[in-house]
Amino acid sequence: MTKAGKILLVGIGPGSHEHMTFRAKEAIAEADVVIGYSTYIKLVKDLLDGKEVIKKGMTEELDRSIEAFEHAKMGKTVAMVSSGDIGVYGMAGPTYELLLESGWTPDSQIQVEVIPGCTALSSCASLVGAPLTHDFCSISLSDLLTPWPVIARRLENAARGDFVVALYNPKSGRRTQHIIEAQTILLRHRSPDTPVAIVKSGYRSLQNIQMVRLAEMAECDIGMLTTVLVGNSSTFVKSGLMVTPRGYANKYDALTGETLAGEQAGRSLSMGLNGWQACVRKYVRDSGKTTLQETSNYFGRPLAEILEAVSAATTEDFAGLFTAKLVDSKHYDILLDKLPNWGKLRAVVRSAGGAIAELLIQGQNLQLKNNWLSLVNEHFHLHVDWQKAHKIWFLSRSAEAYGIQITDPEGESLLNLWLVKEGSDFDETALHHYHDDQAKLTQSTIQESYIHE
Ligand code: SAH
Repeated sequence: MTKAGKILLVGIGPGSHEHMTFRAKEAIAEADVVIGYSTYIKLVKDLLDGKEVIKKGMTEELDRSIEAFEHAKMGKTVAMVSSGDIGVYGMAGPTYELLLESGWTPDSQIQVEVIPGCTALSSCASLVGAPLTHDFCSISLSDLLTPWPVIARRLENAARGDFVVALYNPKSGRRTQHIIEAQTILLRHRSPDTPVAIVKSGYRSLQNIQMVRLAEMAECDIGMLTTVLVGNSSTFVKSGLMVTPRGYANKYDALTGETLAGEQAGRSLSMGLNGWQACVRKYVRDSGKTTLQETSNYFGRPLAEILEAVSAATTEDFAGLFTAKLVDSKHYDILLDKLPNWGKLRAVVRSAGGAIAELLIQGQNLQLKNNWLSLVNEHFHLHVDWQKAHKIWFLSRSAEAYGIQITDPEGESLLNLWLVKEGSDFDETALHHYHDDQAKLTQSTIQESYIHE
């Protein structure tokens, strides 16, 4: 019986031998056949004496797996080499796909071993400081196998989520626009001053490093062998080193002006969920005239989260001039029935772009029909998708403003309705109705008599 074949999927690290793992060297030594893209073969050429070497071009990826399988079937030990980690944008995936499709299982005679290596984001990060010390993600800009809308959506979400982003395959001779598009998307959520490290041929002979700002990223010298590391909102550069702080506590501490005393090892930060809500209330308290929408913009969190913090206020830890009370979602229909009693109302609608429409209406003219809350008159048409009314809050600002704030499932403003003053005062009956409805509809159990009124 011939000896059983073996497929070793070897990540050789960035390129220098010192950064290759012990197991990777051993695996190559063990192999009868070494297969790989010609550049990778060159990187390990002094380990290849006496071995059968099969060089492949860039586009012959599947051929490499097929050939490895064929040789393993003949009882040979085959090492397939790939730069960095072979499981990161590498040959491990396609090889397993091919093997599994052809009926191979981990119990089959042919053994398969994946040998991890130091991937480009780690090796490149090590050359510029410590940019990956907090949450990060990698995104490949190659659209050879991934549709652009998928790449764009991932960029958008990484940017929104304030992840440090490592861009693989940022640019090639033919793909020159992608890095510009990526910059545009990142700039929607991140400062133009965000530090960016551009590492070309890390740990190889032509190594080159550029430290720039996000605003300049797309104009830099970037190629096929470059990894781009984009910082998060806390990343800084000092003495030429790019560093992402391990925690965000300092940033929010600077916002509230509170000291770091009171942190306990192994416990949530004082800026955990409760502390964060207290921070919002303090911000609202201290900044006098700021609206809740402005507070939401300032922290980059949805309005509903700000309202949540305001609604958890106490007499000692109050939210400036604001109070907010959540309407029980079972009572939305009753609330709509009550609106006509609140007299004249100011309806405020905001567009995502920041435009604001303020319409003076009568509550009784709002009609709910086929899930649309509408008001049509000779001056304007107002249509609000009532299925998007996710949360409704009674909201007041001292004795100056009373109304309700409706937020959508994303937590952003869907519609605002404010009571309108007649002369210099609110209409007493209208205000009385408003307070009465607030008391009853924000309770978790509504009184039966009120429903049947
Ligand atoms: N398996 C590899 C990634 C292959 S995708 C790994 O884990 O690192 C190819 C991309 O990797 C390149 O476009 C570049 O973005 C990055 N890359 C690979 N080696 C690199 C190096 N030495 N320096 C900088 N970037 C590198």
